[in-house]
Amino acid sequence: MPKAVIIGAGIAGIATSIRLAKKGYAVTVYEANPYTGGKLHAFENHGYRFDAGPSLFTMPQYVEALFELSGEKTKDHFEYLKKDVVCNYFWEDGQFFSAKADKETFIEDASKAFNEPAKHIRKYLNRNAEKYAITNHVFLEKSLHKLSTYTNWATVKSFLQMHKLHISKSLHKHNHQTFNSEKLVQLFDRYATYNGSDPYKTPGIMSIIPHLEMHFGTFFPKKGMHDISQSLTKLAQRQGVDFVLNSKVSKILVEKGKAKGVVVNDQTHLADVVVSNMDVFSSYRHLLKDQKQPERTLRQERSSSALIFYWGIKKEFPELDLHNIFFSDNYREEFRQIFDEKGLHDDPTVYIHISSKDKKDDAPEGCENWFVMINTPGNFGQDWEALKKQARKNIIAKLNRILKSDIESLVETEDILEPISIESKTSSHRGSLYGASSNSQFAAFLRHKNFSSDIKNLYFCGGSVHPGGGIPLCLLSAKIVGEQIS
Ligand code: FAD
Repeated sequence: MPKAVIIGAGIAGIATSIRLAKKGYAVTVYEANPYTGGKLHAFENHGYRFDAGPSLFTMPQYVEALFELSGEKTKDHFEYLKKDVVCNYFWEDGQFFSAKADKETFIEDASKAFNEPAKHIRKYLNRNAEKYAITNHVFLEKSLHKLSTYTNWATVKSFLQMHKLHISKSLHKHNHQTFNSEKLVQLFDRYATYNGSDPYKTPGIMSIIPHLEMHFGTFFPKKGMHDISQSLTKLAQRQGVDFVLNSKVSKILVEKGKAKGVVVNDQTHLADVVVSNMDVFSSYRHLLKDQKQPERTLRQERSSSALIFYWGIKKEFPELDLHNIFFSDNYREEFRQIFDEKGLHDDPTVYIHISSKDKKDDAPEGCENWFVMINTPGNFGQDWEALKKQARKNIIAKLNRILKSDIESLVETEDILEPISIESKTSSHRGSLYGASSNSQFAAFLRHKNFSSDIKNLYFCGGSVHPGGGIPLCLLSAKIVGEQIS
């Protein structure tokens, strides 16, 4: 039986392990942490349960594909519900908007709330759908670095329609040229943050992100986000995958241009195939120190990171839903601070995720578990203690103003995650959430390939390589790697 070693049990590492086991490999996954899931982790504090990382679940079909591939029924092991409300939005001037999942309801509600002609909104959403149709099979589901991707009619057709993708203008400019309402522009600019980018820099093609949400829907796993990584870990184990926890890989062994295995705790483990789910920057800098480094790829700007306060709140807020956004009054300045100054704006956009809205036992009776997040720059050695203190003050002041409450007095438990701990817990360079940012027109082509051109039998999966960060794209990276390994 051929042997495969996977470095890291993030969602992409787990998914790759299932795909390789199915191909007949004996798969061992070495994971540095005492748990699987990487960023998709969870913890408890005095009766409150928190999903530590991702909170938004889209494209569940990619999770289902792994159960189907293994001949199992998803619903026997992993259940999720579709959301009617995508997100509740709040502005400082008192405006509130609840974005509904149903497309026609969204158009009607948004047209009324923002005094925007319905035809503008419908046209925008239809164009987003068209962009997705043009790019999906070429840019997301296939390797961009294999000749076979380009030698078929579907790809040629996609390239002939490139002018429809709005690659040469920013997402903000595209939105600004589409809508009269500045608030609707801000609402659609926000989607740049789904891959850790700046709406004033990332290209207009990113408007396919709201399409994924509004066409396919948003979902929530009945047992919480953590169940995505945990149900897939169990599926992998049923396929014979061996997860070795508390085992940090220190080197990828390369001999005569071929990956031969890994070193863990000074012990060598030989393999026919090595897949790294570790951030590609860290993989090269730490595990492949003696090998040629793809400098241009590694030096790309990183995506944003995050500062998260996990608060146990001893009150229920009926105006809040599973996902809530409190917008900054100066969005442009917020992103200038994050990407240009590597600092934080005094009036940040605040995201609150409350899983106890859908999973009641995540908080004690009459209470809510708040995951309160702002976007931040990566870790460049800033004084994070000072930044955290200032941000906490600004967030509480903003929430007090908009919710007309005294939030500080309601916080009964607190945990904090910031770029330094994201980096130390997952090896993500600078604590970035999504690998490289997509702040340039060519970002999709600059991401690292899912294989090494210099080292045979070495592959890469996860949020730092093609096709990108976020659970759905990580799962697609595993699919691409699976297809490349025979
Ligand atoms: P990671 O989760 O990065 O895990 C890598 C694993 O490799 C880790 O377990 C690490 O310990 C292990 N590892 C690293 N180096 C070694 C080594 N040398 N030896 C052994 N093991 C090693 N995505 C969404 O889709 N929706 C969201 O709402 C969303 N929100 C997010 C919010 C936050 C706060 C964060 C942090 C991320 C969010 N994301 C979201 C992004 C999403 O979590 C990531 O894109 C995805 O989980 C990354 O998965 P991965 O497979 O790349 O591995």
